[in-house]
Amino acid sequence: MSVIHILRAELELTGPGAVAAPEAHTVPSVLRPDLPLARDGWGNPYLPATSLTGSLRHHTPQHRRQALFGDVVRTTGTSRGNGRDETTAIASTVRVLGTRLTLPDAPLSERRRTAVDRHRAAAKATTLHNRELLPPGTELALWLRIDTDTTASPLIDEVVELLAGWRPRIGGGRTTGHGRAELITVRHRAIDLSTPEGLHHWLTTGGPALVDDHATVVHERAHHQGGAPDEPHLFGTALPFRIADALHIGTGASADRPGRNSGLSQILRDHDDTPIIPGSTWKGVLRARVEFILRSTGIGDVCASVEDNTSGSCGTCVVCGTFGWSERPGRTPDNAEPPKTAGARGRLLFTDSPVHGGEVRVRNHVAIDRVFGGARDEALYAEETVEDGHVSLHIRHDKPVADLIRAALVLALTDLADGTIGVGGGTTRGYGTLAAQPATADWLSTEHAWAVTTLRAHHNATRPAPGPNPDPGSATQEAPA
Ligand SMILES: [Zn+2]
Repeated sequence: MSVIHILRAELELTGPGAVAAPEAHTVPSVLRPDLPLARDGWGNPYLPATSLTGSLRHHTPQHRRQALFGDVVRTTGTSRGNGRDETTAIASTVRVLGTRLTLPDAPLSERRRTAVDRHRAAAKATTLHNRELLPPGTELALWLRIDTDTTASPLIDEVVELLAGWRPRIGGGRTTGHGRAELITVRHRAIDLSTPEGLHHWLTTGGPALVDDHATVVHERAHHQGGAPDEPHLFGTALPFRIADALHIGTGASADRPGRNSGLSQILRDHDDTPIIPGSTWKGVLRARVEFILRSTGIGDVCASVEDNTSGSCGTCVVCGTFGWSERPGRTPDNAEPPKTAGARGRLLFTDSPVHGGEVRVRNHVAIDRVFGGARDEALYAEETVEDGHVSLHIRHDKPVADLIRAALVLALTDLADGTIGVGGGTTRGYGTLAAQPATADWLSTEHAWAVTTLRAHHNATRPAPGPNPDPGSATQEAPA
């Protein structure tokens, strides 16, 4: 092991990234976000190397993971014959030395989220939280060290190839489109300790300076157009919709309006100032509808993830398996030990959809005085809305998705196209209705029959006895369209 190879990979965030500090899952305050970015001792945003290593390890083919990234192997006592369980750690060949973030000339942004009460169709109490986000364009350098016996090693080629095909996803919120990044360059510096030059370099420099002018560029984005491909679309393509009336997805913040004593409730915009429908909105609306469809058709046991009388998502049903789930920390009784964080990431990925060709207007609203009639004093408020415009819904997946969920999603999307469900705020005031563009409408009409057949087959499989229904009306009263 006389040659030390240092690889420096440079990545760029193509969308907002959320890397929350683990110590931040505490009592929220009005002064700081509930999920602030992880920061180093100097207050600069910082990305723990483990966040990237996990993603890179996951990208490695199963049979090479142990060889490249190490493992912890447990041998049970019975298989060893001596009755003792043993744990063996295998060291990682690829060592991750560290990371460095370079922020573009753009401010950190915050995004608020809340859960929606399924009965009131309004935001649920105590679920509002905001997370701090790294802006798109943030650059990230990652240093890797690999020790080998020779300067030219197949191991280096393997790791470079691995990096080139990698779709780095950084930090949290992956299934709602956060943390998407692209690899720009990979530099390689071999330091041969058996040569005076190599030894001199190793002993006199350190840290980032180890990768100096003698490094060679072994991968460059320009030569590999667009980098690694995105995760595949669940339905083979993006689904275009248009805004039927007006849309309001608020930021939770309001801007002051000169000369008026009421603020203006602003809509969510991306870093280019384009209004967006965030991935989390798509995910929430479609998950709620899929749960509703599966529950009301009586197929399988599906939990109601934001119902009041349950402890949130169950973690075992097919919807939790596809959309992901988490233990809700706010549910612990006062004196009890808080539960260990548990959960699983979903298989479906929803990204932010910019609204193109829309017009932002300000609409005024006022509350009505129920006693005297007419407008109530001091109750005038204004909100921004996007009118017209079109959006593309991107539903991607990185693991196989059950036919049952695909079928329910087709029906949920049909409901969305029909205007039965809407996105964003004020859906009871006629906001948030989308209409399918011709391509989407055609696709929905061809998929609809398949979806109904699939759900019916599952229904027959789960309810084999066709005898008299002991509880009339329980299973079919809310059959979807
Ligand atoms: Zn569940």
